[in-house]
Amino acid sequence: MMNPLRKIDRRHTKGGGAESERAQMYPHPVTTPKHTVDQVGLCKTCRHATAITNVSGSIFYRCSLSESDPRFCKYPSLPVIRCTGYEPKTS
Ligand code: SF4
Repeated sequence: MMNPLRKIDRRHTKGGGAESERAQMYPHPVTTPKHTVDQVGLCKTCRHATAITNVSGSIFYRCSLSESDPRFCKYPSLPVIRCTGYEPKTS
């Protein structure tokens, strides 16, 4: 059975090299408006994440830890499965 999370990662792993570098440079949108925890991963429920919707309806997750810690990407590649900075939102 195919892992549904691989559908999102596949375009970033194809080609490697320059393609992989470009994938690191640009934000990775969640293209479906009804994004789920499975598509986004930990950022969906992390207090450091801010969801940003662009004019075409794509949703990006910006990590505020990237402003003070270079280990974190401003726009992490989704889904984020493991993250040392993850802290759940408190409601
Ligand atoms: S700390 Fe990790 S889980 Fe939280 S927003 Fe940043 S990348 Fe996502």
